[in-house]
Amino acid sequence: MYRSGSEYGVQGPAGTLEKSVALGLAQLIADQPKKNYKVILTRSDDYWIDIPGRTAVANHLKADLFISIHTGGSFLHQAKGITIFYYKELSGHALETGSNSSKPGDAANHQALWDNIQDGHIASSKVLAQVMQNNINNQLKFSKSKIQNADLMVLKGADMPAILIEVGYLTNPGDEKKLQSPEVLSNFAKAICNGIEKFFQIQN
Ligand SMILES: [Zn+2]
Repeated sequence: MYRSGSEYGVQGPAGTLEKSVALGLAQLIADQPKKNYKVILTRSDDYWIDIPGRTAVANHLKADLFISIHTGGSFLHQAKGITIFYYKELSGHALETGSNSSKPGDAANHQALWDNIQDGHIASSKVLAQVMQNNINNQLKFSKSKIQNADLMVLKGADMPAILIEVGYLTNPGDEKKLQSPEVLSNFAKAICNGIEKFFQIQN
């Protein structure tokens, strides 16, 4: 979703572009009727926003959660399915320790603070991933989604519960066909919105 403009991300064998699938799904999510929250898109058209810029929008707006939407791509056409990621630092640094001893006002330490801003949200991001998985698996006739954690830059700087959803592999002809279907995308949007609703119920 966040590859855009000249950066179109993954492209399927039938020519489907990641940036179009992701933006289309994001707009469907934004258009869904909602009871107690609103959706702000970090990108609402075909232009490029760099990765730090996306979480900066969410942090600036003090959003309650952050969802990044992508499609997967692989040289192995068999690779397929939905993956929900939450953040985990690669170095295996004990994230939960929060051992960031930086002094206020020190730029380098301020950057370090930002770099680790997701540390304090990992537990709730994991819950968000699990709630989203349940909803997607219950509502979508798509292959069962799985959860993984990874050192994803787009999640690292999010000062709120944050996940990245890879909504299928565009390089897999079966997934590409599904992601070309307005009905599948509409059901996906509903499942994601229900997942958000459930997460807020759990949080409150
Ligand atoms: Zn992507």
